[in-house]
Amino acid sequence: MGEQGGIGEQGGIGEQGGMGEQPEFDVVVAGSGAAGMTAALTAARRGLSVVIVEKTDRFGGSTARSGGGVWVPNNSVLRRAGVRDSPAAASEYLAHVAGEGVDKQRQAAFLEHGPDMLDLVREQCPMDFTWVPGYADYYPEAPGGLASGRSIEPRLLDGRVLGEELGRLNPAYLPAPAGVAVTQSDYKWLSLGTRHPRSVWRAVKVAARTAKTKLLHRRTLSLGQALAAGLRGGLAKQNVPIWYGTPLTGLLVEDGTVTGVHVARNGEPLTIRARRGVLIATGGFERNAAMRAEYQRQPTGTEWTVGAQGNTGEGIIAGQDIGGSLDLMDDAWWGPSIPLTGGPYFCLAERSLPGCILVNAAGQRFVNEASPYVDAVHAMYDGHTEDKPHIPAWLITDQRYRNSYVFAGLPPRRPLPRRWYAAGIVFKADTLEDLANQIGLPSGGLRETVERFNGFAAIGKDEDFARGDSAYDRYYGDPTCRPNPNLAPLSLAPFYAIKIVPGDLGTKGGLRTDERARVLRQDDSPIPGLYAAGNASAAVMGHSYAGAGATIGPAMTFGYIAVLDMAGTLG
Ligand SMILES: Cc1cc2nc3c(=O)[nH]c(=O)nc-3n(C[C@H](O)[C@H](O)[C@H](O)COP(=O)(O)OP(=O)(O)OC[C@H]3O[C@@H](n4cnc5c(N)ncnc54)[C@H](O)[C@@H]3O)c2cc1C
Repeated sequence: MGEQGGIGEQGGIGEQGGMGEQPEFDVVVAGSGAAGMTAALTAARRGLSVVIVEKTDRFGGSTARSGGGVWVPNNSVLRRAGVRDSPAAASEYLAHVAGEGVDKQRQAAFLEHGPDMLDLVREQCPMDFTWVPGYADYYPEAPGGLASGRSIEPRLLDGRVLGEELGRLNPAYLPAPAGVAVTQSDYKWLSLGTRHPRSVWRAVKVAARTAKTKLLHRRTLSLGQALAAGLRGGLAKQNVPIWYGTPLTGLLVEDGTVTGVHVARNGEPLTIRARRGVLIATGGFERNAAMRAEYQRQPTGTEWTVGAQGNTGEGIIAGQDIGGSLDLMDDAWWGPSIPLTGGPYFCLAERSLPGCILVNAAGQRFVNEASPYVDAVHAMYDGHTEDKPHIPAWLITDQRYRNSYVFAGLPPRRPLPRRWYAAGIVFKADTLEDLANQIGLPSGGLRETVERFNGFAAIGKDEDFARGDSAYDRYYGDPTCRPNPNLAPLSLAPFYAIKIVPGDLGTKGGLRTDERARVLRQDDSPIPGLYAAGNASAAVMGHSYAGAGATIGPAMTFGYIAVLDMAGTLG
């Protein structure tokens, strides 16, 4: 996997960019995540010469680490699956989710171009997608929301299509054992252990798939690994080069127009000219401690994110340096996370499954534990005061919960690792009073909270936070738990307390853009030649999150839109 090896350097300076001191392309894209690769694919299909400059020595960024979910309403994959949707419903729903702060034209552009973008990717990449059945929109009861869900995920992909370039794929966030590939819809059922016949059937299916993968020496990829590898395969087919180890360091501006980028290539400064435009697709600033301190609510930290290492916000800064305005910098794609010693664990099903509650330092519940992950962390910050800290919060469970469900990747019944106890992340006690004492909570307070919650579990109705009322809550619930799949009492000792901090999948604030993905100045005028998409731009979702895939869907779509505008074919 040398610097010149594999398909990564094909179509380099000599082939597409001219031989001068300053290589030149029609389009220069910075960053090789979902936004950047989709944009480069679009450029190549429009007959434009294009290069991706990537800071790290791997492609895929957070996209490769992700669940690979894509939220694009009314796309061909959903139609094929028979999901009933309409542009009007999607528009009503997005307006509700994004709120007043997000320009209506941007929302409309996303919904209009998303389906075409996806068709291009499906045609040009060695990959396809499938609906994630029943993965509800995050607010399915809102106007236009769908309880059946609008999320799709990549089908399994044999990574051998990439040849040696597969070695450049940024690794998954949770490395699976060799040969094991789990999809989003597998995860829902596997998290239930052996509670449901479909869980057992899924486990058998995954085991059979793993055996076949090993037998045939396949490199089966799922989730974000499949998405990033699939996009990379599409670029390889079009001979689009990725220049690795080539960070964007600034923008070339001539007569008020962005005409290229400054990069460091092999450690040497280089200017690359862009005839049509530059797309900043360098991801968020989740790994930049100074920016987090400057823009975000405290406490926060780079150690609580699961976003990609390379995402330190240089693209955002480069745009800002030449007059680009910023928005949503205080926000992120948050999620309650366990600060494990080897890196944070982003909780999904763990919070929704019955038999656990989330409490603050007063031992009180403060949120519907099964609510969308961004909302759960907003509640942590909103309620956090010195007198009554919500950070860290504590997930309280009992042995019945541990006996029933997968927890942070650990099978049911398996004891939680000793190093988690040693690090002060997990506590265990035979009584709630003792547990409360260990973590510094008022002991009476915790017992009172648990007793009240157990009462709700008995009647199947959470009268405080409505847990289990929404179809979204129930997606990660336990269908065998009746009457409410998200509510069960905490009653079987020992009891556990697990530390929860505000983690994130990445930040969602960045350069402010318009419906053509052009970067805007403070006065709303576009900076000629400069575009941004993905987490380098302020999210079209505003402070919210429409459904699983609502970061990657818009990232890909605005990458696509940016290049159509550069090509003069946006209309
Ligand atoms: C564990 C996990 C699960 C997730 N699951 C989902 C999901 O299922 N669905 C969903 O919608 N979202 C999900 N997300 C969020 C999603 O992955 C990101 O929001 C999205 O991938 C961002 O895409 P992007 O193209 O903006 O950036 P990225 O994919 O992060 O790519 C940015 C690239 O830019 C590079 N870069 C940075 N600085 C520079 C520079 N100066 N010069 C050149 N290159 C640079 C980076 O190295 C990186 O390769 C998940 C995230 C994680 C971590």
